[in-house]
Amino acid sequence: MIRAFDRAVAATLPLVPRPVVRRFADRYMAGETLEQAVATVRRLNDRGVMATIDVLGEFIRAPEEAAATATAYEQVLDAIAAERLDATISIKLSGLGIELDPTLADEMLARVLAAAGRHGIFVRIDMEHSGLTDRTLQVYRRLREEGRDGVGIVLQSYMRRTMDDVEALADLAPNVRVVKGIYIEPEEIAYRDPAAINGNFVRAVDRLFAAGSYVAIATHDRALIAETLALIERRVVGHEGYEFQMLLGVAEDVRHRLVAAGHRVRVYVPFGRAWYAYSVRRLKENPSIAGYVARDVMRSFVPGLR
Ligand SMILES: Cc1cc2nc3c(=O)[nH]c(=O)nc-3n(C[C@H](O)[C@H](O)[C@H](O)COP(=O)(O)OP(=O)(O)OC[C@H]3O[C@@H](n4cnc5c(N)ncnc54)[C@H](O)[C@@H]3O)c2cc1C
Repeated sequence: MIRAFDRAVAATLPLVPRPVVRRFADRYMAGETLEQAVATVRRLNDRGVMATIDVLGEFIRAPEEAAATATAYEQVLDAIAAERLDATISIKLSGLGIELDPTLADEMLARVLAAAGRHGIFVRIDMEHSGLTDRTLQVYRRLREEGRDGVGIVLQSYMRRTMDDVEALADLAPNVRVVKGIYIEPEEIAYRDPAAINGNFVRAVDRLFAAGSYVAIATHDRALIAETLALIERRVVGHEGYEFQMLLGVAEDVRHRLVAAGHRVRVYVPFGRAWYAYSVRRLKENPSIAGYVARDVMRSFVPGLR
């Protein structure tokens, strides 16, 4: 967990000039273009790591932007197939316009799913802020009831409701990515205590295994990874029953160790021109952010500082 001083610096990130943010953000992104995303995924695949590609751009203000996101995903799916990459996609319903117009979002989602279906590529629907949790779960249930099996969902262990959601979804044996959760939520609905968040994480993974789910364990928290590995061993889940997921540019040493031990590992690869919001979220989570930013700001005053 991130220390008080780092948290204070993280809170001032919006005041940091964009070029400075960009310099630190580069490690978290493949770049601005599809070619850069393909090159990053190929490098990961060459090292035995799978990928999931995210087109950055969740804050949209007009229907044309939702259509542009859908088009970008169609191009990503075509590229994954043409380049024979071991990759899936991760989408956000906000990026497809759900907060503007749910009918528009359904149409855009149908376009993306049609392209994914043509190529047999799995689609993960990311989970966003709590205002979208119910709608996201409803969309997922509808898709599964329509017979679309190549889609998965995300559940956040900081949400107090998560175990109820696991129970409600259990009949679908859903493919779930379990994460801690990144959005700032009120305490009435979300745990703040790290031990409660981790406890809920392991409980959710355990219950999902019991429901026959494929589980994507998405965390860089070493203690939590160790706990889930112990759970996998106790439940005797084969390598084909789960995968670990991590963000590009984070905890690479842990990722290498998991791959070397034979676990399936997938890296989340974001790309696109709308990099700023994603980068600020990642930088706020980085425990060394204060040092990095302070050093960079100092560098602009003290020539030659490394
Ligand atoms: C593949 C993937 C998909 C995700 N999808 C979603 C989603 O759909 N919805 C959602 O709400 N959240 C999502 N998240 C984010 C998640 O909720 C957490 O905010 C994020 O993973 C950080 O939490 P952590 O589990 O790594 O634990 P933390 O306790 O935050 O971090 C554990 C350790 O990891 C390292 N670390 C973590 N972040 C960074 C960073 N940015 N830079 C450097 N080091 C870092 C540090 O060493 C830290 O001590 C996703 C995360 C991953 C890995």
